[in-house]
Amino acid sequence: MGKEKKLTTAAGIPVPDNQTSLTAGERGPTLMQDHYLLEKLAHFNRERIPERVVHAKAAGAFGTFTVTNDITKYTKAKIFSEVGKKTEVLGRFSTVAGEKGSADTVRDVRGFALKFYTEEGNWDMVGNNTPVFFIRDAIKFPDFIHSQKRDPETNLRSDTMQWDFWSLVPESLHQVTILFSDRGIPLGIPYMNGYGSHTYSFINAKNERFWVKFHFKTMQGIKCMTQEEGDRLAGENPDYHTGELFNAIAKGDFPKWKLHVQIMTEEEALKYKINPFDLTKVWPHKDYPLIEVGIMEMNRNPENYFADIEQAAFSPANVVPGISFSPCKMLQARIFSYADAHRYRLGGNFERLPVNAPHATKVENPYQRDGLMRFDNNGGKGPNYEPNSFGGATEDPSHKEPPLKIYGDADRYEQKRGVDDDYVQPGDLFRLMTAEQQQLLIKHIAGSLKKVPKEIQERMVGHFTRADKAYGEGVAKAIGLK
Ligand code: NDP
Repeated sequence: MGKEKKLTTAAGIPVPDNQTSLTAGERGPTLMQDHYLLEKLAHFNRERIPERVVHAKAAGAFGTFTVTNDITKYTKAKIFSEVGKKTEVLGRFSTVAGEKGSADTVRDVRGFALKFYTEEGNWDMVGNNTPVFFIRDAIKFPDFIHSQKRDPETNLRSDTMQWDFWSLVPESLHQVTILFSDRGIPLGIPYMNGYGSHTYSFINAKNERFWVKFHFKTMQGIKCMTQEEGDRLAGENPDYHTGELFNAIAKGDFPKWKLHVQIMTEEEALKYKINPFDLTKVWPHKDYPLIEVGIMEMNRNPENYFADIEQAAFSPANVVPGISFSPCKMLQARIFSYADAHRYRLGGNFERLPVNAPHATKVENPYQRDGLMRFDNNGGKGPNYEPNSFGGATEDPSHKEPPLKIYGDADRYEQKRGVDDDYVQPGDLFRLMTAEQQQLLIKHIAGSLKKVPKEIQERMVGHFTRADKAYGEGVAKAIGLK
C-alpha cells in the first residue's frame, strides 16, 4: 500500500475534519472561522462556467493523425510533410442546439471539432458532420440560432420558429434537406463523416495558394438511427452517443476516419459556376475529386471531462503555416467569434490551459502578459515589449502569405451566382436519394412541418418544389396541403 493521501484546503493546509462543521456548542450555530467549510461551499457554487451557446453537449477523445499520401505540392504544413508522419489530435463531437445536458440522439447537425497539436502550433479544424450550413453570411447567425433554441415566452423549442426562419431564408434548404434525411441522426459518433465545410486555403513551399475543402470520411461506414429509435433512446439513455464512444475506446475499438481534400486553383475559382466560398454549397465530386491525405484514429479517452473536453477551446483562427483562410463570410466571422466565445467562457488566458496549449512550440508569445488566472511564469523576466534590444522573440517573415487579389467595390453582396442558386444542390441531393430515402426525408419533414401555421407550410413547399417537383409534391401530400 502506498502512503495514505492527506486531505488539505486549496492552500495546502491539512484538513482535520471533513465530516462535521464547527459550531458554537453542540446545538449552536456554525462559526465563521470554519474557513474550510466556507471554501468548500464557495468553490462548489463556482463549479459551472458559462456553457457554449451552441455545441454545448459533446463527447471527446484524443487520437492520432497519420499521413498516407503526399500532398506537399499543395501545402507546406508540416503536419503533412511526409507519408507516415503522426500528429496528436483532440476531437470534440457535439450536437448544436441542445443544452449541456440535452439528449444525444436528436435530429441535429453534429459538431466535428479537431485540434491537431502540430510542430508549428495548433491547427483547429472546427467542422460539422455536414459539408454545408444553413446560412452563408454570419450576419444571420444569431437570428438563425435563436430560431432553433427556445421561444422567449414559453421556453420551449418551437417548430414554428425553426420553419419560419428556414422558409424566409431559402439558402438554408440544402442543409435542411441533409438534416431531415436518413442521415439526420447518426447511429453514433464513429458512424458519421466530418467536414471542414468552409473553403480554406493551402499554401505550398513555392508560396502558391490553392483553395481546399476537408472531408473526414468515416471508415466504420455511415450508419444512422431511425427517428423512432432516436426518440426512444433520448428518453431511456440521453447520453447514448457519449457513452458508446467512451466504451468503444475503452475496449480498444478505435474509430477511424480517412481525410480527403478537394483542391481548386485560384484561377478556377474566378470562373467556377458556383461561388466556391459559399458555405451553403459543396464542390461536386466530378469537378473536384477527393484526394486522400491520411487517417485519423481516436484512441484515448479523456481522463477528466472538464479539463480535457469542457475546457477545450477550438477556433478556426488557429491555422498553421501552409493552411489558411478563404473569403467565406461565415469563416471570416468565426475567426472572430470562436476565440471571443472562449474569452468569455474561460477567460483571456484560455490558450494556456493544458488542453489548449501547443505541445511542440515551447516559445509562446512573451508580449502577452498578465490577465486573470495567469498560472505559468507569465513570461518571466524577459522583455515584455517588441521591438527590443534584449533578445526577445521576433516575427518570422518566411511565413508571410502570398497577397490575395481583391476585386470590386465595398458593398453588401448576397454572393449568389444565378437566381436558382439556392435550389440546385438541394435538388441534386434529393435526386441522388433512393425512393426509400426520399420517403424518409419527406416523412421526417412532415413530422415537424405539420405543426406550423399554413402560411409557413406553403412557403416551404414552394422551396421544396423549386428544388425538385417530386420533393414539393411529396411534402405537400404528407402534410395534407393542396
Ligand atoms: P456525388 O454523387 O459525387 O456524391 C454524393 C455525396 O452525397 C456523397 O459524398 C455521399 O456521401 C453524400 N450523401 C448521400 N446521401 C446523403 C445525405 N442524406 N446527406 C448528406 N450527404 C449525403 O455527388 P456530388 O458531389 O455531385 O454532389 C451531389 C449532392 O451530394 C450535393 O448537392 C450534396 O447535397 C451531396 N454531397 C456532396 C458532397 C461533396 O462534397 N460533393 C459531400 C456530401 C454530400 P457518402 O459518399 O459518404 O455516402
